[in-house]
Amino acid sequence: MLVDNHGRHIDYVRIAVTDKCNLRCFYCMPEEGIDFVKRKELLTYEETLRLVDVLSANGVNKVRITGGEPFLRKGIMSFFTELASNDRLSKIAITTNGTLTEGHLDELIKLGITSFNLSIDSIDPKRFNDITRRDLFNTVWSCYEAMLKKGVDLKLNAVVMKGQNIDDLIPMVALGRDTPVSVRFIEEMPFNGGGDYTPELEWNYMKILEHISSAYPNINKLKDAKSSTSLNYQVEGYKGTFGIIPAYTRSFCGSCNRIRITPTGVLKTCLYDSGVFNVKDIIRAGATDQQLLEAIQNAISHRALDGFEAERNRTGFGPVGESMATIGG
Ligand code: SAM
Ligand code: SF4
Repeated sequence: MLVDNHGRHIDYVRIAVTDKCNLRCFYCMPEEGIDFVKRKELLTYEETLRLVDVLSANGVNKVRITGGEPFLRKGIMSFFTELASNDRLSKIAITTNGTLTEGHLDELIKLGITSFNLSIDSIDPKRFNDITRRDLFNTVWSCYEAMLKKGVDLKLNAVVMKGQNIDDLIPMVALGRDTPVSVRFIEEMPFNGGGDYTPELEWNYMKILEHISSAYPNINKLKDAKSSTSLNYQVEGYKGTFGIIPAYTRSFCGSCNRIRITPTGVLKTCLYDSGVFNVKDIIRAGATDQQLLEAIQNAISHRALDGFEAERNRTGFGPVGESMATIGG
């Protein structure tokens, strides 16, 4: 088992397989001038699978593949096939923007990959296209409908942004009236790739909940899973649920069970840290599996207590501001 210096068990790894994306969500990355990682700097699939092998032999049973947009990386379906053959994993999940995903759904389901977080910040086509700076709403909506039809375990992710998608909150909760979808509203974080937009966190989780409660007085609080990052609710009589993720308020750190791997192989023990060590560097220097495990154990044994401590301890990076596409969310 991997246990950190605060007694938290690590059983979940989130892996961003690329920093590239075909959308330009303004809260995540600037419109242009992005210096994407070169192919040889990426952790290869082989290296990633070896890392997952070491982690899964030591108690990690859940993997999330994210990005950038994971379906943009060449060979991703062969990678999923290999990953799915690791029978120590009880869950493989994917976070995707849904622009290139629909055509792969049947194959993924066959592999046993049935858990998807689909990012959709607005269900109004114009607002969606304004936020993502691309014209792909219909493609993403079609993916949403296909996912519903195929009955996958589906969560919709929406970042809540002042002046952008507040009018979507109530209609997005309403999606759960007849469908078993879980909509999760995420507090906006400053990981926007150094763009000129500075979020003021007016729309924190309390304000989001108050806003939804004003339209739906009959909301029940659900019991949250132990390491859940979302506070979960259900409108009485609805099939679906909704959750709020206090990603900026950081009230969930006490039960954090996850580590992250960036596209270049940097291991992060907290979303807000600046990276602890580079897995790729030690693998390419000839580390054995045991040495790789020891490096991971060492990182985990120096873990910040929470996202505030991790942010204070950042080295070489300056304030939080890198693109979320280089972290994976
Ligand atoms: N491209 C895929 C997608 O959009 O689902 C996967 C990568 S994306 C970085 C993962 C998640 O991070 C998305 O749900 C996105 O909304 C969220 N995200 C990106 N930037 C964020 C920010 N500044 N604050 C909060 N969430 C953010
Ligand atoms: Fe791309 Fe996802 Fe970032 Fe949007 S949030 S720009 S879809 S990586």
